[in-house]
Amino acid sequence: MYSLSELEQLCSECKKCRLCSTRKNAVFGEGSDRADIMFIGEGPGEQEDLQGRPFVGKAGKLLDKGIEALGLSRESVYIANIVKCRPPGNRVPEDDEAASCIEYLRWQVKLIDPKVIVLLGSTAGRNIIGKDFRITRQRGNVIEFGKFKIVPTYHPAAVLRDDTKKADFWSDLKLAVKIYGQIKNC
Ligand code: SF4
Repeated sequence: MYSLSELEQLCSECKKCRLCSTRKNAVFGEGSDRADIMFIGEGPGEQEDLQGRPFVGKAGKLLDKGIEALGLSRESVYIANIVKCRPPGNRVPEDDEAASCIEYLRWQVKLIDPKVIVLLGSTAGRNIIGKDFRITRQRGNVIEFGKFKIVPTYHPAAVLRDDTKKADFWSDLKLAVKIYGQIKNC
């Protein structure tokens, strides 16, 4: 059994897929190691790659706003991605890259043991729920996934590109917190 810091070290040296050759920094994830709510996105972008931290660019600012609007803090949740190294040009990770990296995320989920997982975008959905996952069809619902409650929503970058997704994005975040409240009060 690894600790989170051991896993982070492994990621920083990882060469399991081609993304290692173009990364500046692996972006392991950050937040509380006892978070009840975990956010999972697609992969690092330019700023994340430079800083070695998840969701620190424009999309990250939107996610921060959402987290704060819900009365939470970035430090109280955990934020990670499907792949830990930036796909060149911010392209969608290839299936073999995601498959090589997903083990790190599995360990993170196992160690953090969140109550609610918010999937940000279709790449997160396809790699966790299954290849048939469709964000437009499945967002706004709670998916029972083993012991976890999963709430899929749009990736903040997609919300920035398309203003009409904003209301659904906020409502999905509120749903995640509502579900968490229900679990906590059980
Ligand atoms: S994306 Fe994941 S599997 Fe690929 S090199 Fe980076 S840490 Fe390793």
